[in-house]
Amino acid sequence: MNNLIAKHLFYFPSQYFRGQKVWKFIPEVWADERRPEEEIQRIRDEKIRKLVGYAYENIPYYRKMMQEKGIRPETISGYDELAMLPVLTKEAILENSQSLIKPNSSKRMYERKTGGSTGMILHFFKEADALAKNDAIMYRCYAWYGIDIGDRQARFWGVPVKSKTRIKESIKDVLLNRIRISAFDISETTCLREYERIRRFRPTHFYGYTTAIYGFCRVAKDLGLNLKELQMKAVICTAEKMYPHHRELLSEMFDCPIVDEYGSSENGIIAFQCRQGNMHLMSDHLAIEFVDEQGQRVKPGELGRIVITDLSSFEMPQIRYDIGDIGRLSDMKCSCGITLPLMDIVEGRKEDFIRTKEGKLVHAAYLCYTLKEDTIHEFKMIQKAIDRFHVQLVRSPLFNSESEKKLERNLRCALGNDAQISFEYLDRISREKSGKLRYFISELSEPTDMTSEEKLVSGRR
Ligand SMILES: [Zn+2]
Repeated sequence: MNNLIAKHLFYFPSQYFRGQKVWKFIPEVWADERRPEEEIQRIRDEKIRKLVGYAYENIPYYRKMMQEKGIRPETISGYDELAMLPVLTKEAILENSQSLIKPNSSKRMYERKTGGSTGMILHFFKEADALAKNDAIMYRCYAWYGIDIGDRQARFWGVPVKSKTRIKESIKDVLLNRIRISAFDISETTCLREYERIRRFRPTHFYGYTTAIYGFCRVAKDLGLNLKELQMKAVICTAEKMYPHHRELLSEMFDCPIVDEYGSSENGIIAFQCRQGNMHLMSDHLAIEFVDEQGQRVKPGELGRIVITDLSSFEMPQIRYDIGDIGRLSDMKCSCGITLPLMDIVEGRKEDFIRTKEGKLVHAAYLCYTLKEDTIHEFKMIQKAIDRFHVQLVRSPLFNSESEKKLERNLRCALGNDAQISFEYLDRISREKSGKLRYFISELSEPTDMTSEEKLVSGRR
């Protein structure tokens, strides 16, 4: 589809009907990225005051918490004072899901589910403006690489298990001018087929899970496919940490910038890599802090947990939300002209591949698609052997006798009919030393170093 048709006939009208007026925010966010740092700080402080005041007046959880701690909303006059408020953990969101939302809100709300690298399923509700702002921010970042709204995208992503959701997503893909390449199924056969599909579609950029794009490139290299002739404007990798070996191969296979995106389904883009290779924080839209275990801010250059306050989300505010990743604020300045501050991602977004007896590689994000059910609070899968899988679950009150069968059925689509799948029900799933819940662990004896992974991806074991 022509990009202008996609932009003006599909994207903007569909956003209009959803009440998400992205275009309203575009001039503002475009201007923000080049404002002097002090001006960004002033804008951020003003937004923090407004948000905290609103939360105190309208949201039962925040009102109660601030009253108990004896904090008046006017005390929180900006970013510095924000640190007086406690960190909002994922556990606290699960326990207080109702009182975190404005009662009887007249605004239309959209649900966002997380089931990312933490393996804990949380439901967030966002008003249209907050989502429109996320999109405006996303297009601002893409514009750094000459990518416009409606430009054709090859998306290396999950494919929903439920047929209803799959159809919905396929329609969305057509309207958003993108094709989806399954991150769950990478082999020589699929790579060749998808390469031809990509060639015919002529995307301007690749977007998707780092390891999925990496896996595709690995196989493409073995098959001698020329990805440079696709003439991409950029390859944008997201959802997982990009390791040097990922970047090395991608840079070899493409003649375009390889871009690291750090974001989440609940907050949109948090940091995005510029042409100078630096990760700029979206500080005009989010208050981003790096804190120690006690919730106190650490100095630039020191490792800390990443804590986010979405400054546009009022109906279900996330004030000092601990997203579960670890990173480092940088006090370096970038010479690219964008004044937004910089960070380094150090840890987080650790994911892996599930390996099956048939020699198939399934991206572990498949579990997020399969297990992201209302019947489950938390999940974790341990691969014990090539055909043996153990699933730990924390059930929600909606879990019933049919739920386990349904989960098993969905898992079998990827793991195969012969796989042994066992379930264990727990009150809480144990965390890693860092406090994170790793939702997939492989206990296969074969090393997970790159050599074996590469062999597996190319199917030449
Ligand atoms: Zn820069």
